[in-house]
Amino acid sequence: MTADTPRSEPLARTHEVTNQPPPLAGHDVAADPVLLEGLHREGAGWYEEDLHRVGRLAGSEEVQHWADQANRQEPELRTHDRYGHRVDEVEFHPAYHRLMDVAVREGLAGAPWADARPGAHVARAAGFMTWSTPESGHGCPISMTYAVIPALRTQPELAAQYEPLLTSRVYDPGLSAPLGKRGLLAGMGMTEKQGGTDVRANTTTAAPSADGSWRLRGHKWFTSAPMNDLFLVLAQAPGGLSCFLVPRVLPEGSRNTFRIQRLKDKLGNRSNASSEPEFDDTVAWLVGPQGQGVRTIIGMVAATRLDCVLGSASGIRAALAQADHHVRHRSVFGAKLIDQPLMRNVVADLALESEAATTLALRLAGATDRAQRGDAQERAFLRLATAVGKYWVCKRQPAAVAEALECLGGNGYDEASGMPRLYRDAPLNGIWEGSGNVQALDVLRALAREPEAVHAFAAEIEAAKGADARLDAAWEQARAQLTAAAAAAPGDVQFGARRLVESLALVLQGSLLVRHAPHAVSDAFSASRLTPDRGLAFGTLPDGLALDGLLARTPVGLRG
Ligand SMILES: Cc1cc2nc3c(=O)[nH]c(=O)nc-3n(C[C@H](O)[C@H](O)[C@H](O)COP(=O)(O)OP(=O)(O)OC[C@H]3O[C@@H](n4cnc5c(N)ncnc54)[C@H](O)[C@@H]3O)c2cc1C
Repeated sequence: MTADTPRSEPLARTHEVTNQPPPLAGHDVAADPVLLEGLHREGAGWYEEDLHRVGRLAGSEEVQHWADQANRQEPELRTHDRYGHRVDEVEFHPAYHRLMDVAVREGLAGAPWADARPGAHVARAAGFMTWSTPESGHGCPISMTYAVIPALRTQPELAAQYEPLLTSRVYDPGLSAPLGKRGLLAGMGMTEKQGGTDVRANTTTAAPSADGSWRLRGHKWFTSAPMNDLFLVLAQAPGGLSCFLVPRVLPEGSRNTFRIQRLKDKLGNRSNASSEPEFDDTVAWLVGPQGQGVRTIIGMVAATRLDCVLGSASGIRAALAQADHHVRHRSVFGAKLIDQPLMRNVVADLALESEAATTLALRLAGATDRAQRGDAQERAFLRLATAVGKYWVCKRQPAAVAEALECLGGNGYDEASGMPRLYRDAPLNGIWEGSGNVQALDVLRALAREPEAVHAFAAEIEAAKGADARLDAAWEQARAQLTAAAAAAPGDVQFGARRLVESLALVLQGSLLVRHAPHAVSDAFSASRLTPDRGLAFGTLPDGLALDGLLARTPVGLRG
């Protein structure tokens, strides 16, 4: 071949690309009927324009590139400087900082707590789901900053100092005196080597200091986003397990002792740093009463559990969007995959799961919004529904993502598709902030101790009474289980707790869909999830359903 031989012709003979879908980029991630209807229904219709702006950015090629970079070039720990002094810093790829900057600027961290508009928490929830679509790892510090406020408010003088900066829309990274920064981020340190679920086994100690502050000594086994500014940490004080606020940098500007021993080498969530810090004479301030550490930090945990549900619903939607896009463009045996009956069943079933997850997630966000404005019924509903939702939506995410990945065939196994990252990230929401069994046990606890939560949950389901006989029958069964469990000693019903929680989750999702979704959706849900004769894998919807109605609800653009 001479230098001036055109290269295109011989290349085209061996390298013609056909029947591959176009890249899924340059679209509006928020152009999703389920998300938008939920946004309006839960009281944040005023946010729609902003949500589309976030959605267009989230769907852009540039942000997809950021997501890829932030995960490929993982955070790096620098324990010491060149002279041997400890520095305990974590360096992130610039793409991570760009993702964080948008998240904070768009009000997805602490901002809703400073926003008096009804629906502010719903707007933030929809924004969080949308912005997590291209990259979920950086959502961890964003969630923790959102979640820290209710717990911090139990110590009003600390809240008065730090809340304005935690609710700020300025991303101001780097370690410097917190009150001199334009915006702060928060994290939490509960889990220790000998126990995460059982925090009573914490061995980190707290001793009072003459100036009213405290000194911590001990370790944590998981503390994510260690470059954040402030942490709520559990430690054993003389009066029992207590909650403390630990700053990375002390008020006068010197470093607090926060020795990062190493970063975790994780399955997924790779853009986010998760560390093992040690405390030694570490300065801290008490938050809430001594001995009430769990009760204090539970305000933070409850809010991060909501984010687990939002995050899992978002992960399911993201995977569905990829699968739906692929099957609408890829042909096999002379027809588009989407027109092959068995693939229609799979994608429609995934769309159904996604709609059920998103609808429940936004219902919880709406309840959070109304509860923090004083609605006691919504607060009671949340007590049970958050645990039920966290258990079920997070548990469905890995299965749904694996199925969506399979829709892309071999392409789905290729990193370039983005599916492997969605898959690696899928089990995480099920683990942190209380794993599946912990949620199931929490449901039993609420049943035994909080009758108003049971009443609020029942009222929610019964709002759909009479609209669908399958839902009514499933609720009757679940209510009988629930009543028996509430009357029994928790130890006697633990073995069957997952079955109970699963039933409660399905009737809750079913009732929400009967009330709010098109008939095609609620009918398919009842037929496939609320009858005894149901398939276990996705793609096992029974005959006779209006699949077009389900497939019109997928998130890539608004389909007619
Ligand atoms: C990527 C990542 C980041 C994290 N970041 C943080 C962080 O920033 N701060 C922080 O404090 N923690 C963090 N964690 C820790 C996480 O919250 C804990 O791992 C989790 O709460 C479980 O605790 P554990 O690992 O000690 O497991 P264990 O408590 O040992 O539980 C193991 C299993 O036993 C089950 N189990 C527990 N009790 C019971 C019971 N009574 N009956 C039946 N089953 C039971 C659990 O559901 C779980 O499946 C993070 C974890 C991960 C993976």
